[in-house]
Amino acid sequence: MSRSEELFREAVKWMPGGVNSPVRAFANVTESPRFIERAEGATITDADGNTYIDFVGSWGPMVLGHNHPAVLKSVLETAAKGLSFGAATELEVEMAKLVCELVPSIEMVRMVNSGTEAVMSAIRAARGFTGRNKIVKFMGCYHGHTDAMLVKAGSGVMTAGRPDSAGVPEGCTQDTLLADYNDLDSVRALFESCGEEIAAIIVEPVAANMGVVAPQKGFLEGLRAICDQYGSLLIFDEVITGFRMSLTGAQGYFQVTPDLTTFGKIIGGGMPVGAYGGRKEIMEMVAPLGSVYQAGTLSGNPVAMAAGLTQLHLLSETPDLYEKLNATADWFFGEMEGMLTRKGVPHCLNHIGSLGCLFFTEQKVVDYATAKTSDTAAYAEYFKHMLHQGIYLAPSQFEAMFLGTAHRREEELAKTLEVMETYFA
Ligand SMILES: *Cc1c(COP(=O)(O)O)cnc(C)c1O
Repeated sequence: MSRSEELFREAVKWMPGGVNSPVRAFANVTESPRFIERAEGATITDADGNTYIDFVGSWGPMVLGHNHPAVLKSVLETAAKGLSFGAATELEVEMAKLVCELVPSIEMVRMVNSGTEAVMSAIRAARGFTGRNKIVKFMGCYHGHTDAMLVKAGSGVMTAGRPDSAGVPEGCTQDTLLADYNDLDSVRALFESCGEEIAAIIVEPVAANMGVVAPQKGFLEGLRAICDQYGSLLIFDEVITGFRMSLTGAQGYFQVTPDLTTFGKIIGGGMPVGAYGGRKEIMEMVAPLGSVYQAGTLSGNPVAMAAGLTQLHLLSETPDLYEKLNATADWFFGEMEGMLTRKGVPHCLNHIGSLGCLFFTEQKVVDYATAKTSDTAAYAEYFKHMLHQGIYLAPSQFEAMFLGTAHRREEELAKTLEVMETYFA
């Protein structure tokens, strides 16, 4: 038995499903999870000493690759001075200032400890600011596991949300309205029926939790216009896209300005960090300044700030970083597309920037319904082959492939294409 298998047998005795977050359990791909011991650049190494080219990247944070020496150095130096004070620190000021300087729509920001927390808090701020309760979310978009966002993705438009999880009272989701991604008419219909009660639309500006689905031309602009018409706020959940699509996130990439933005994953450089921010008049509603209560004992933790801040500095100070990363990703996904077409594999390969997803379907994937047409059993087979050949993909069809600057064309990416070629032969 491998060490990973041994560890998993032990883990399931003490932790639900043997893991601290469900998708790690590999349940969708009928494998037992690899227990990871260390990571470096574009690779991770498991407890049995197997090294994989990693396309998960801790689910997004590792834009610069794993264990970047500058990030590690700042973490070690900061940790040496004390792990947490529960008091104000200079690093927090530096982080807040940098985020506001980099992202024009953000005038003030509050740090939290996860993407879930960022979304929960942004929604509260939007409700507090507008004095309204209803929130529009899109089927297939994930906004963390806060009660109001755990809404059955299969429910039809115009129906108030039904909880997607046991333990969520219907009262918590009764104000969550569902629309279809890339379908402005479905949003307009909701606003026509109760627009004056809608506090905000929350959207992943590139949907990256139903595989990868880019916004069609005019979709984000349309959401902006609808919000303006009804006095609702537009929240971009940039937990995946922030500091990944570009230095200004998806909002800079598409030139659409939200009222509030949530961050996570990348902003922590691998540490547990989230943030929400936006227009000053909205953020001034937040305690201790305003009446929207939100707090966190470990929020703005110095070690976490050091990691995130160092990564953000590197991202903002390296010339052409995003142009090069996105060009490499375009090349890689272009090669993949060519191969799949040549081999006659039924597929839809969506990609934008450094995010991509291979769906096993012949339909064009533009929303949740079309994403669900993908053959998940085919994905599981593909996943297993890749894993056994040293390529670590997300253990679910409905996740992104994350590329970072540590993935080199002639090395890791060429190797990955070779392995794919053997599978689809
Ligand atoms: C991962 C994710 C979240 C939740 O973040 P956690 O740190 O896992 O709580 C929220 N929104 C989006 C778009 C995400 O991808």
